[in-house]
Amino acid sequence: MGRLLANPLIFAVTLTSLLVTGCSSHRTLSVGGAGGYRGGPVGMPYSNSAPRNGEGSSSAAGSGESRKGVPVSVRALVPRKAPLVLLSEVRVHKDYLPKSARGRKGQSSMRPRYITIHSTQNWSKGADPWRHSLALKRSKLGSLSWHYTIDQSVAVQHLPTNITGRHADFNGPGNKYSIGLEMCEHKGNSLSKTIDRTAKLAAYLMYKHGIPLSKVVPHYHWPRHGMNPPHKNCPHFLLDNGRPGRRWRGFQSRVKYYHDLITVQGPSYAIR
Ligand SMILES: [Zn+2]
Repeated sequence: MGRLLANPLIFAVTLTSLLVTGCSSHRTLSVGGAGGYRGGPVGMPYSNSAPRNGEGSSSAAGSGESRKGVPVSVRALVPRKAPLVLLSEVRVHKDYLPKSARGRKGQSSMRPRYITIHSTQNWSKGADPWRHSLALKRSKLGSLSWHYTIDQSVAVQHLPTNITGRHADFNGPGNKYSIGLEMCEHKGNSLSKTIDRTAKLAAYLMYKHGIPLSKVVPHYHWPRHGMNPPHKNCPHFLLDNGRPGRRWRGFQSRVKYYHDLITVQGPSYAIR
């Protein structure tokens, strides 16, 4: 002690080394201790993943506070829900068209860039996803095909997402580059539950394929050249006077909400 005080230079160096050691050990804990799921969607920027409600990781790292034994800076590093948990809530059943079905013949491979939302406009009793799947497999709908049909209970997948369907705009980009989602509207089916399940599926597909929200579009988005009108009123119950408006923006908000759950960093998922 006496020697330390007697030599101001030694005292200063010792103090500095103590401060540096404390800071870096905390930093090591913050980065290395996250564990579990940490990634964002492939190809998606992290610029929109700032923690909310002022719970910034930098201030947390500075304070070193902890709750339930988990440092704040660690809790802030992961999304609030695991993507596969969200997907499990959609209840996807695969029931692919055979390669001999008309809807699959001549289709090519694709890397999806868009998600196109439709509704079946099929009000027949029992026109649920399984019934549509059967019709597609038996080539009862001509050469039409799409990727998923969704109702209040399930989502049935008809095609792998790396194969084109015929659901939007003949040989246009809607068919060439988009995953087609059809929402059921048969009697007795809850439209609100169907919309919610569809929003979850769209959010998961955005995450999986790195598709931004701006490329989740209604069928209306794709002009059908040679048709009158070229822009179809589809999905009609999510459009206003046949065009994207308040209802479509509401659907986009819901998709964003679910996408944020699985991508934006927040504390909930980490401490549960
Ligand atoms: Zn449509």
